Amino acid sequence: MPANPDRNAIDVRAVSKVFGSGADRVAALDNVSVVIRENEFFTLLGPSGCGKTTLLRLIAGFDFPTEGQILLYGDDIAPLPPYKRPVNTVFQSYALFPHMTVAQNIGFGLEMLGKPKGEVAARVDQMLKLVRMEALKNRKTSQISGGQQQRVALARALAPQPKVLLLDEPLSALDYKLRKEMQIELKRLQHETGITFIFVTHDQEEALTMSDRIAVMSSGKILQVGTPWDIYDKPAERFVADFIGETNFIVAKIVSAADGKATVALPSGTTIPATYAEGLVPSGEVTVVVRPEHARVVKEGGHLPGTVETVVYFGTDTNIHVRLESGGVFIARQQNSRSAACGFETGERVGIDIAEDAAQVLKD
Ligand code: ATP
Repeated sequence: MPANPDRNAIDVRAVSKVFGSGADRVAALDNVSVVIRENEFFTLLGPSGCGKTTLLRLIAGFDFPTEGQILLYGDDIAPLPPYKRPVNTVFQSYALFPHMTVAQNIGFGLEMLGKPKGEVAARVDQMLKLVRMEALKNRKTSQISGGQQQRVALARALAPQPKVLLLDEPLSALDYKLRKEMQIELKRLQHETGITFIFVTHDQEEALTMSDRIAVMSSGKILQVGTPWDIYDKPAERFVADFIGETNFIVAKIVSAADGKATVALPSGTTIPATYAEGLVPSGEVTVVVRPEHARVVKEGGHLPGTVETVVYFGTDTNIHVRLESGGVFIARQQNSRSAACGFETGERVGIDIAEDAAQVLKD
């Protein structure tokens, strides 16, 4: 089920959360506003301590905002205790009951809600099928693998059919391969159930892979909200560009700018086209960002002259680090081919050729 752009599942309005006071005062969230749509796979992405978990806890009702409001389908949820909110949480630790079977764990919440036995059994079977765990139904959860425990935790959280599922770094305990598998699995589950997922991670690749939209957070603030493509290719500020993947920052001068398109002069004097975010009025000296895969190293010409400093091969691609004549190092990435090696050597004088439409002007 695709995200419904016309219905807001969660509307966070000017929410702040302060812990402690005096010297111990921490503003975990600082005037945060964000709208999460129905059926959306929405990710809160940011480094440790930026306030991701705090925002989830406020939505779940485990804690209250110092200021601001959270609406669920248009209603203020402040008066509702956690168990009355149509919201469920999957924790990093899974929090399963080890002495109970897989089926008992999945049905536990439904039984607590006083659902009839027949209904619980039918729903448990449905959930077992959804997470592909039918075969291990009667196994104790202490006797299944980490990945299987993760599936049980998901099934248990989905069983009461919440409107919104909160997932707090649910894959962080899994090894790389299993984690990759579960990323796809989670996306499938979200798509099949149509439940709004709010997913917390500090892993940019995970966020890009799974999300319909991402909110990038830093120090209690949301810096940018957008599709993975927006966030990766049109970062609005330095922190976002830097946090999401490898990138190059170039100091440049605005020659002209109108309607989101600018011409910028690089330190070499060459001009290139660049884009900028809505609301920005770029002028004077600015920073532009260019992803490594949007630039080529060329033997002659190019926009920025320099000397090859390091060549780093990593299977699919090679990163070529070029020391620019104007100062700093520029990383260009080229795809590897089986028929020829990268073709550049340390110490070689080269140029950096920036692709059309590759440069983005940052705020400040
Ligand atoms: P992580 O990825 O490490 O879980 P996070 O982005 O989820 O980090 P939060 O757990 O939301 O970050 O914490 C945000 C800030 O608020 C941190 O500085 C943290 O130390 C502080 N904080 C969180 N909970 C409390 C609390 N109960 N009392 C005091 N400070 C807190």
